[in-house]
Amino acid sequence: MSGTRKLPSDCRRIVIKIGSALLVDRKAGLKKAWLDAMTRDIAALRAKGAEVMVVSSGAIALGRTVLKLPATGLKLEESQGAAAVGQIALARAWSESLSQHGIVAGQILLTLGDTEQRRQYLNGRATINQLLKMGAVPIINENDTVATSEIRYGDNDRLAARVATMAGADLLVLLSDIDGLYTAPPHLDPNAMLIEEIAAITPEIEAMAGGAGSELSRGGMKTKIDAGKIATTSGCAMIIASGKMDAPISALENGGRHSWFAAATVPVTARKTWIAGQLQPVGRIRVDAGAEKALHSGKSLLPAGVKDVSGDFARGDTVAIVDLAGREIARGLSAYDAEDARLIAGKKTGEIAEILGYAGRSAMVHRDDMAMTGHKGDETKDRENA
Ligand code: GLU
Repeated sequence: MSGTRKLPSDCRRIVIKIGSALLVDRKAGLKKAWLDAMTRDIAALRAKGAEVMVVSSGAIALGRTVLKLPATGLKLEESQGAAAVGQIALARAWSESLSQHGIVAGQILLTLGDTEQRRQYLNGRATINQLLKMGAVPIINENDTVATSEIRYGDNDRLAARVATMAGADLLVLLSDIDGLYTAPPHLDPNAMLIEEIAAITPEIEAMAGGAGSELSRGGMKTKIDAGKIATTSGCAMIIASGKMDAPISALENGGRHSWFAAATVPVTARKTWIAGQLQPVGRIRVDAGAEKALHSGKSLLPAGVKDVSGDFARGDTVAIVDLAGREIARGLSAYDAEDARLIAGKKTGEIAEILGYAGRSAMVHRDDMAMTGHKGDETKDRENA
């Protein structure tokens, strides 16, 4: 076992994705005993200091059972109707089961747009953080009732990976009916072996999961590897494990079989690499020397240190933060639209609410949303003089 491999209870923030078949029996409906064992596991993780989020599938499956719809061949509208019926029951079941441990549940329903547009992404992230801060367990699913085929995830594996990156989780656990990634499809090849540790998702690993559109990809391994790519590149490790037994997290804690996908790097670095490298700044925030110093010591950018704001950007867009001479110091995601940022530039944090008419974030660019991209003043000079 390499040094990076951890038990769930050693992780700080965990997203557990639960497949429909684990929670819902086609005839009997909700598998209450399984759910109760799962919430016991969640309570145990929390008792050890971990923050836990659940991405729970099962809305469509549960709604289908309640509405007595056939198991396959549902039209999109029928699935949406089933999801509407099933989601109420699903959320209630989670809420009741968690309450046995004195834990409050909060429901979050997301669409693809919510995770791909940075403005909504930031709002979603703020809500998740707030729920965790209040000690609640977010119970998350795709908002299947409004998501049409072009704009839906369709699978909760990738949704869970997006949630994990959005929440800065350090572990994503995908629970379904398969206990990990095999060298070949285990039902077809008796020599197939479980791969215990995947250091990086290489083309060979992808090939083992079955290419897009192949017979094998329908087994669900492809979306799990896609999820692995999303999670690990942003610094979140991933486990694929079976959830068929009761209390699968306890099973993992006790050395149960699984595949471990190592995180590419530590979360902050991966996220900041993404901010620094992948996005084109659409605006510019010029800051004074005091703010520049604060940024170099790892602080957030407060409006008080902002001299002026240029460009037209929306909240969540990437901006360049520049020094008085216009040299780039950092890049980050702005917590304000350009218009509002201009209004509060140079103002104290306490004045924001009065100026804007709403209580905004205290930082214009939060340090978690910022990557230092320039050099410290003196170094820059040295470089220029050289
Ligand atoms: N969002 C779907 C549901 O709750 C499940 C999608 C999936 O199984 O991955 O029914």
